[in-house]
Formats: sequence, structure tokens, C-alpha cells
Amino acid sequence: MSIGVPLPPGSTIGIFGSGQLGRMLTLAAARLGLKTHIFAPTGPDSPAAQVAQTYTQAEYEDLDAVKAFAENCDALTYEFENVPAETAKVAAHCKPLHPSAACLNVAQDRLTEKLFISEKAGVPVAPFEAIDSKEGLKRALQNLGGSCVLKTRRFGYDGKGQMIIRTEADIEQAWDKLGTQSVIAEAFIPFVREVSVLCARGADGQTAAYPLVENVHQNHILHTSIAPAPRDMGRAKELALNIMQALDYVGVMATEFFELEDGSFLVNEIAPRVHNSGHWTQDAGCTDQFEQHIRAVAGWPLGNPNPKHGVVMTNLIGKDANDWKALAREENSFLHLYGKNEAREGRKMGHVNRIVPTS
Ligand code: AMP
Repeated sequence: MSIGVPLPPGSTIGIFGSGQLGRMLTLAAARLGLKTHIFAPTGPDSPAAQVAQTYTQAEYEDLDAVKAFAENCDALTYEFENVPAETAKVAAHCKPLHPSAACLNVAQDRLTEKLFISEKAGVPVAPFEAIDSKEGLKRALQNLGGSCVLKTRRFGYDGKGQMIIRTEADIEQAWDKLGTQSVIAEAFIPFVREVSVLCARGADGQTAAYPLVENVHQNHILHTSIAPAPRDMGRAKELALNIMQALDYVGVMATEFFELEDGSFLVNEIAPRVHNSGHWTQDAGCTDQFEQHIRAVAGWPLGNPNPKHGVVMTNLIGKDANDWKALAREENSFLHLYGKNEAREGRKMGHVNRIVPTS
């Protein structure tokens, strides 16, 4: 099911998930006169539910609730990729869901994703092998060059569900921890930097690509994004657009890459949604990623993705957000807080976008 015409202001976009991404999608939709309806199992005080017009609190597996929710909306999307397949199918049967259930299916499983990206889209990924035994992992370690990263196929994020294996001696512990789940082993990539590209694609095939972003992680969590990244030759953008075309993708998608010493790129993963490494767009003088996604999902023309100046985005993780008063006083910076009460360790509480002066 697709949207025939742009949804007029006053229409309702349904969003699965009630975290900060849903919150910022809601705020962007509101700027365009569109309403949102959030569906999530978390309480009404969760970040997106706090600001949305309508909120349904139910389990994703409650298909009657999913149906009722979808019927109440004009178009549907999600803020996280672990929406169960059956939920997406039922929802998509009622109203247009973007990105599609097929995109979700590819992005939910690291093996399916890597096979799709390398074989269907023809875009290089880190060498990998599906693993189903400790012996298989031993063999893969040899084949993959002597060190590798063991990753669960599903539900991994921010470094969770993965372990680096540097020698055969690490296998036992890694297998004990992750071997009960479906896993893949990936060659350990000696990248020079991690970068990402956000692109949007409309139902009519129109695309808008933001400049390359350089990402710095701390404790496996994104800490800083520098946008635009220095040394952008445009190649990563091309690769990301190839993947989107192959997926017949509608919406904003993030593609994360490892950049190698020779300047070439390997895709690490794709996120079929707005992404933390795109938060800088909110204060860069262009159409931000949240509005861009809403535009694509609502069948509107895409906005301008070209920033007027550079931005360094820094995540406020856990107690970092306690500095809100000092951050609010900073010149040339923009504070974004997600309305979360408890500043637990490792929890993304907000971010700050600092404008980089153009000299
Ligand atoms: P992921 O959850 O796959 O994005 O991985 C989290 C982080 O682990 C990445 O941002 C990298 O810093 C690191 N990492 C993941 N896979 C590899 C790899 N194959 N080689 C080297 N580092 C990796």
C-alpha cells in the first residue's frame, strides 16, 4: 500500500516506539501541521508519548491493538528496527508503512542485511561468516584473518550482543556468552575512522543526501558526530543510495561505514530510520532528518539537505545531562533534552549541537 498524494496538514502519522527519535519525529511533524499517534508498551511519560497528539500503550504483539492503531492513522512508520515482523505486516495491511516491512526484515538480522547489501546492492561489507558451533567459530577465526567480532544476528545495538575475538583463547568465553543465539563472525576491520551518511528517498524515487559525518564512539556508544566530515569525496553517499534503491526504500536511512586507510568504505550496518548520527541536522540550517523522514512518509517533496554551516553533535549520556544549566548558557550551541527522568548510566538523555564557525 502506498500513499497516492501528499497527506494534507492535519493528517496523522503513526509511529511505533516512544523514545527520543519518536519524540523528535513528532516535533518535526507538528511544525508541518501533521499529528502523530505513538504506539509503544512504555508508559505515557516516555519521551514521544509526552509530546504526541495520541498515544496507545500496548504490547507490539497485541495485533488487535496494532490494527486499531493503524486504522486511526493515515501513514505509518517506526523509530526502531525491532518492530516484530507480524506487527509490521498487520499494520502495513491497514495503512502505508514506510520504510516497508521488507526493509525492516532486511535490517533486523545482521546476516540477511549483509547478504542483501553485498549481493543485491553490490556494496562492500566486512568479510563475515554465519556461525553455528564453537568449531565453526574456530575455523572462521582463521578464515577471517586471525581476529574477528562475534555478533548476535538480532537485537544488537551500542556494542551490545558482540565480542571481539583476538586469539583462539577468547573463543570459549565469547561462545558461552553469545553462542546460545544465532550469530555471525565478522573480520576485525582496522578502520581509520567511522563515518555515516543519512539519505532520504521519497516514494517517487526522489533522493536527498546529507554530507558525510565522522563519528566518535566511547564505550561503544556514539559520543560525537562531526558534520560535515573532513575529506568527503562523495563515494559513501553513492553507496548508501545504491542500497536504498535496491531496497526501494522510502524515508530516511542511516548507513554506517568503516573507512579504510586507502579511502575505501565497508558498510558496517544500516538503520532503517532516523539516527543519532543525524541529530546535527536540526541546527545546521537545512531540513533536518526528522522533518525529512516525515516528508517522505507523508508523500511530501523532500527538503534541502545541504547545511549552511558545520555542527559538532555531542550526546549527553547519563549524568552528562546534569550540566544542562551550563549547556543552556553556551553561545552558538543548541540543547536538546529528551524528557527522561532517570539519568541511568549509558542512557541517552539529550544532545547538544555546537555550531562550527565558518572561517
Ligand atoms: P555495531 O553494533 O555493529 O555498530 O558495532 C559497534 C562498534 O563496534 C562499531 O561502531 C565499531 O567501533 C566496533 N566494531 C563493530 N564491528 C567491527 C569490526 N568488524 N571491526 C572493527 N570494529 C568493529
